[in-house]
Amino acid sequence: MSNSTITPWVVGNWKMNPMHADALKLIEEFKLLLQQEPISQAACHIGVSPVSIALTNIQAHLAEFNRTIYTVAQDVSKIAGTGAYTGEVSAELLKDSQIEFVLIGHSERRELFGDNVEIIKAKLNNALNAGLTVIYCVGESLEQREQGAAEQVVLQQICDIAAIVKPDQWQHIVVAYEPIWAIGTGKTASPADAQMMHAKIREGLKQITPFGTNIAILYGGSVKAENAVELAACPDINGALVGGASLNAQSFFQIAKAFAQSK
Ligand code: PEP
Repeated sequence: MSNSTITPWVVGNWKMNPMHADALKLIEEFKLLLQQEPISQAACHIGVSPVSIALTNIQAHLAEFNRTIYTVAQDVSKIAGTGAYTGEVSAELLKDSQIEFVLIGHSERRELFGDNVEIIKAKLNNALNAGLTVIYCVGESLEQREQGAAEQVVLQQICDIAAIVKPDQWQHIVVAYEPIWAIGTGKTASPADAQMMHAKIREGLKQITPFGTNIAILYGGSVKAENAVELAACPDINGALVGGASLNAQSFFQIAKAFAQSK
């Protein structure tokens, strides 16, 4: 059991899934599970991150729940405001649609869509200035881990944003540690290894901001119902960013329950 006073977060990253009808079915099933076995707002923040085209529709359906479920954008433009930027969705436009949360720095964006440090900083800056809360993803590759560079890589990713986040904006940051080799592979970092990295991130954050003690640090990488209890028991693991298992209502519910009960 964790001693942390941080309310855990469990966020489902749906990625480029599911079809709309399946998304509605998924949230209806999840709603039923929550009605049968409520998880209070105080016990766990819960969110889902649908594709951008579905954000407002899913948000409207989630508003019918008897507790808040956040709707989280999977990405935001590096360009702020409005203008002639075909295909882009700015932080201001998200905010204007009452979307209050966004993932930034996910390894799939970094690896497949060219989100380098400068782009990530621009996105983060825009998101925070528009008043969004950012789930900032960090994590090392298998190669970096095997070279013994995991800690250095992850702490550098934390330092990358230190100059961008204004002192009072740290309260709008959630960190997600997602070792790239564990994402979508079925391989999870052992709770001991994950805890060790989370403790390092916590130390790093405490050196950067007095708010560092309170920032939620989520673990991501093949989290499932079967390993959630063990991960949730680690003192510096304050929640989970869940990919594949968030597409199954029962699995996602069990993960949320594990973290809610770890407080
Ligand atoms: C993710 O993409 O953020 C993720 C953690 O995926 P999975 O749970 O499928 O490994």
